[in-house]
Amino acid sequence: MKNFDVVVIGGGPGGYVAAIRCAQLGLNTACIESWLNDENEPVLGGTCLNVGCIPSKALLDSSHHYSFIKHEAKNHGINAPSVSMDVHRMIERKKNIVQTLTQGIAGLFKKNKIEWLKGHGRFVSAYQIEVQPAGDESGESYQVTAKHIIIATGSVPMSIPPAQVDNELVVDSTGALAFTDVPRRLGVIGAGVIGLELGSVWNRLGSEVVILEAMDEFLAPVDRQLANEAEKLLKKQGLDIRLGSKVTGTGCNNREVTITYENDEGKQQVVVDKLIVAVGRKPNTQGLGANEVGITMDERGFIQADEHCRTNLENVFAIGDVVRGPMLAHKASEEGVAVAERIAGKAGHLNYDAIPWVIYTWPEIAWVGKTEHELKAEGADYRVGNFPMAASGRARAMGETDGMVKMISDSKTDRILGVHILGPNASELISEAVLAMEFDGSSEDIARTIHAHPTLAEAVHEASLAVDKRSIHF
Ligand code: FAD
Ligand code: NAD
Repeated sequence: MKNFDVVVIGGGPGGYVAAIRCAQLGLNTACIESWLNDENEPVLGGTCLNVGCIPSKALLDSSHHYSFIKHEAKNHGINAPSVSMDVHRMIERKKNIVQTLTQGIAGLFKKNKIEWLKGHGRFVSAYQIEVQPAGDESGESYQVTAKHIIIATGSVPMSIPPAQVDNELVVDSTGALAFTDVPRRLGVIGAGVIGLELGSVWNRLGSEVVILEAMDEFLAPVDRQLANEAEKLLKKQGLDIRLGSKVTGTGCNNREVTITYENDEGKQQVVVDKLIVAVGRKPNTQGLGANEVGITMDERGFIQADEHCRTNLENVFAIGDVVRGPMLAHKASEEGVAVAERIAGKAGHLNYDAIPWVIYTWPEIAWVGKTEHELKAEGADYRVGNFPMAASGRARAMGETDGMVKMISDSKTDRILGVHILGPNASELISEAVLAMEFDGSSEDIARTIHAHPTLAEAVHEASLAVDKRSIHF
């Protein structure tokens, strides 16, 4: 039986990064991964690379270019009178990007001498895992042992009884990344991150998109000021977002889906050609055998882990979507690095207060730290600096004047408590704020930092100046 220092179960951004860091630290490492792609080939990369972050951003970029050519190019003096969309080509491009990146991870495993065990892992004991070869239920299983085990089994889409996914007319996020043509009418259940991102993709390509959201508030985790502004902008783009709308049933014939939902005005119906169910994700521990060896789970099915990602079994750690905290690829990866370092006897560190969030609509929405409503509820004493994108020279030159930067800092110490950005490339701009918060920075630190001109980053600079009411351009 093969014996390793570390066995990682799951090869997504949590697991593969943990495995690479373990190997870099001289630990003899294996990673068990069961994913098979559409061609039935074993692949690494998990949800993020195969059906999550990367393919969704590929489609967001393609659809953004199409929308730009159709609606914005003329403002730049570019005439493109006949534009058409080749959905097949767009999906092929996405597939190629995914393939290149997943093969890249396999290459990194080889380079770092990580053994990739292609199969499904199941705990036999705290130190022993059984591997069932991927896609081969009747194939012979084998066992491996490890001094340390890292669970990185990720998450899967949640389902709701009124809208059963059939992968024909009613799809989850994976199905919505693989439509073969643009649905004329598209329904989405859930105005969360996936609903807005994938709803945007198909809306830009011409679908009439209706998004049904059970909550009365739009994007509850986002700072109210930005969420309200984002809601207006997305509605203007054509997303028909219906808040306070609880789906109670769906009925399919072989061409269309009738969705029944309830709102303040009573029972409503809407008919669509495709329906995306995007109501959240749940931890994936199916067939893992974690319960059987005594690993504690919480009431929602997450593996219970402390702030160092330790489970109740001394040698078993858990990271990423399968444990508490935001379901984000970068959170999973950083937990992977921290755990590998702890196993190697180093002081792995992860600052849960400085994890950035991004929603890749256009404009993008990005934030780190606390929102103003959270701070208000805590009774915190804070100052706010706002700067509108419309006052940024670079944003004007780009023709991207929607949105703003909002910085919040402590009134007494000036320590930055939260930064919220709605605007072009907010996903990139937020990194400056994350770095500042990681170093316990103040708004004055950013205000005293020289920002290149003309850049969008100057809007972050101006928001930091605005905290002290000394913004130059607004
Ligand atoms: P996963 O990526 O889910 O990987 C877990 C892996 O474990 C899988 O490959 C699975 O096959 C394997 N596995 C499970 N059980 C076993 C077992 N018993 N044996 C062997 N292998 C097993 N996050 C962002 O930060 N930015 C984004 O832009 C973003 N976009 C997203 C878009 C979509 C459409 C979706 C669905 C998600 C998106 N996410 C995004 C979330 C992100 O994908 C997850 O947070 C991230 O993948 C979690 O990483 P993980 O390693 O914990 O789990
Ligand atoms: P989500 O939690 O962001 O949104 C789900 C939405 O569905 C919520 O607003 C919820 O109120 C609504 N909802 C739930 N049940 C409903 C019902 N019966 N009827 C109507 N609405 C209902 O979840 P998601 O969009 O599925 O995404 C899952 C997770 O994946 C995210 O939380 C995030 O962690 C991750 N993700 C991240 C990114 C990114 O970082 N850009 C992109 C995609 C996904």
